[in-house]
Amino acid sequence: MKYEAVIGLEVHVKLKTNTKLFCSCRNEFGKKPNTLVCPVCTGMPGTLPRLNKEAVNLAIKAGLGLNCKISKFSRFDRKNYYYPDLPKGYQTTQYEMPLCTDGYIDIGGRKIGIERIHLEEDAGKLIHEGDKTYVDFNRSGVPLVEIVSRPDIGSGEEAALYLKKLRGILLFTGVSDCKINEGSMRVDVNVSVRPKGSSLFGAKTEIKNINSFQFTQEAIEYEIKRHMELYEEGNTPQSETRRYDEKSKKTYAMRTKEDSSLYMYLPDTEFVPLYISEEEVDELRKKMPLLPEEREKIYVNDYGLTDFDCENILQEVHFATCFEEAAKLSKDAKNTANLLISHVFSLLDSDKVVRIKPSRLAEVSNLMTDEVINSSTAKKLLEKLWEEDFDVETYVKENELFQINDKDVLSKFIEEAAEENKKIVDDYKKGKKKALKALTGIVMAKAKGRANPKLLNTLINEMLG
Ligand code: ADP
Ligand code: MG
Ligand code: ZN
Repeated sequence: MKYEAVIGLEVHVKLKTNTKLFCSCRNEFGKKPNTLVCPVCTGMPGTLPRLNKEAVNLAIKAGLGLNCKISKFSRFDRKNYYYPDLPKGYQTTQYEMPLCTDGYIDIGGRKIGIERIHLEEDAGKLIHEGDKTYVDFNRSGVPLVEIVSRPDIGSGEEAALYLKKLRGILLFTGVSDCKINEGSMRVDVNVSVRPKGSSLFGAKTEIKNINSFQFTQEAIEYEIKRHMELYEEGNTPQSETRRYDEKSKKTYAMRTKEDSSLYMYLPDTEFVPLYISEEEVDELRKKMPLLPEEREKIYVNDYGLTDFDCENILQEVHFATCFEEAAKLSKDAKNTANLLISHVFSLLDSDKVVRIKPSRLAEVSNLMTDEVINSSTAKKLLEKLWEEDFDVETYVKENELFQINDKDVLSKFIEEAAEENKKIVDDYKKGKKKALKALTGIVMAKAKGRANPKLLNTLINEMLG
């Protein structure tokens, strides 16, 4: 039998607001437990929530970035359940009337549907230490959107592509910082398998809270295989929630699937329905920044970058800003991109902050384009700029880092090198490629790394070839 996989993703994303969804406690990660709390977000009786308008605006921006309809009216509901990290006894979310519906993400020619985006609050966090469990309410009431895809995804690879695209859109619209390691982007996957071409759905399993896009892909691939094997043996997969173990690269059953009716969703009567006017949506639409896809078009068409360049530069918003600012000042934006990707990105720390001003990057790039310096000098300059800022042209002058374009000077170095390294010259004459590289290296060292590499190559060929 031939099978096909059916996959839908539910992604929780923390919104980049200053404060929580219903109170003025700060929305910050990594603070001392229970220091960002108040009676509202800890669910004290008699307190009144007030909706954070900025959270609503960011959720709408997510909707616009993901091609959704923005609902004129949406509503908050209570998802009732008991758990120690949820002092209110319910989560305020949107169930029946979500804020955004019917969008899609284009993953390279194929559209993956987005069923809904709803606003909701996060729960607190349990911390297990030995036989004790502590609870930190700093996360209680932090604003989230949940982005629910349609079951349109066909493989682990497509899921990873979808997530990458989703992350890019949320980053560039400023909706979320999408830091997976801080839990500000959390992925649940739903997987089922059916006979190829069938219009019915097979039983689905859900894998919760996977830690990276790579693991998401692996977990899906494992799960698809597991379902197929079950069907082949004449069995059916259980509808259940599973977890993915990154070490064994397998999924394990956690619990059978709870029925959504068990949650007892009820309208949250503390809120009137949320009304969003068309004017408000238009206002936000006008302020939408360019999405990664649109930037990619500009990079390719106007600057001659490759897909590889675009993928690297569009990983982070500030990478893109740095490139774009430098490109505006550059005589050759492609060369600027090359310098950024191969030299600057290799200097990044785990915080990924670029410690070089875009204007300096452009200065270095332009000196290279004008053949004033060569690429190894450019690399050294960038490494130095990483430590401290300085005027590049002055520095090059003062330290005499000019590229040596003088034929006579280079010829003299080559003669010297040949004299001192007869064996290598012999090897070179016998056609050994390595010998050319070695010889170039020796001459380059004599020129203190400043030889014009093209000219040097030509001269070596002329003189010894
Ligand atoms: P639940 O109530 O179990 O969470 P939903 O209908 O709300 O299920 O769907 C949740 C997610 O599961 C969505 O992303 C949806 O696309 C996906 N999904 C629904 N049915 C299937 C299926 N048969 N196989 C795979 N994914 C599915
Ligand atoms: Mg679900
Ligand atoms: Zn609070």
